[in-house]
Amino acid sequence: MSDLAARLLRQQLSDLVPYESARRLGGDGEIWLNANENPYAHDYQLDDSRFGRYPEFQPPELIDRYAAYAGVNNKQLLATRGADEGIELLIRTFCEPQQDKVIICPPTYGMYAISARTNLVDVVNVPLDGDYQVDVDGVLANMDSVKLVFVCSPNNPTGHDMQPAKLRQLLEALKDQALVVVDEAYIEFSEQPSVLNWLGEFPNLVVLRTLSKAFALAGIRCGFTLANEAVIQQLAKVIAPYPVPEPVAQVAIQALSDDNLTAVANEVAGLNALRAEFAATMTGLTEVFPSSGNYVLFRVPDALACMQAMAQAGIILRNQSKQLTLQNCIRVTIGTEQEMARTTSALQAYFKEAV
Ligand SMILES: *Cc1c(COP(=O)(O)O)cnc(C)c1O
Repeated sequence: MSDLAARLLRQQLSDLVPYESARRLGGDGEIWLNANENPYAHDYQLDDSRFGRYPEFQPPELIDRYAAYAGVNNKQLLATRGADEGIELLIRTFCEPQQDKVIICPPTYGMYAISARTNLVDVVNVPLDGDYQVDVDGVLANMDSVKLVFVCSPNNPTGHDMQPAKLRQLLEALKDQALVVVDEAYIEFSEQPSVLNWLGEFPNLVVLRTLSKAFALAGIRCGFTLANEAVIQQLAKVIAPYPVPEPVAQVAIQALSDDNLTAVANEVAGLNALRAEFAATMTGLTEVFPSSGNYVLFRVPDALACMQAMAQAGIILRNQSKQLTLQNCIRVTIGTEQEMARTTSALQAYFKEAV
């Protein structure tokens, strides 16, 4: 009997390895710098009088506020259960299982491939080039049966912004052919402007955003998919009927108040200053990747040993060694000033021992 579920499982999923989220990986320690969260908590009020009713499909005030924040009109976005739901929704809406494909550009965020696989959609890997930039010619040479091209900017976990000229080239070449999904989960930390102001030019542009990173709301699961109305309308047909729970909408609306936007901008500036400081210190010790996100990737002599040494100091980081070209690379999320001070000295101690 015990193998019933295994026997019933969709055959194509038999060797699926689930996404190793920071929370699933777990770990012992009191300093959590492995999931690119913003460490600062904000206060929110909840009104429970509406919890007995189904929520709005797309809470109007939430949509209006995020549209204003992002500089789009309110027909050009869809609120989702995190940006992750946006990724899956795009695949479910546009890709025919066992027929269509998506392109991803590794090393990059892991959920594009997991969502494709769980929906029986093949993934074509077109690795980033030597400068960790999207390989436009490589993408264009591999467009057979491809409906979606996922590009992450700033890229997780390397930290690079994708050059606007390359994104433009891609969008232009694929204008009548495929959607280019630019994942801007970390755009608030970057100095490079969003590609959202290109929506008028490109019917095939889709942008993913989230409240999980800069807004310090990973726990509420709220993200946004932004695109021209024609794309949003198709996605709205496929998404669940109540994708934004009432408490999520209430918190997200408060998060998008003018006061909170100012607080977030100040936190981002502070985190970016800590990032610069951390990167400068690490550059004296080892290879450090430039970063436009709230995280920094660096290479160590032995990633497992370093992870263990850090865990012993109570600090949980993220080993990226399994990613293409990132052997012995570790990603650290920028935490509070105190967390960064402890992390920096623990890493300095590790390098003293290791080298
Ligand atoms: C964290 C992250 C997401 C997912 O964000 P959620 O809104 O929490 O689902 C999407 N893309 C990238 C690149 C991320 O790092």
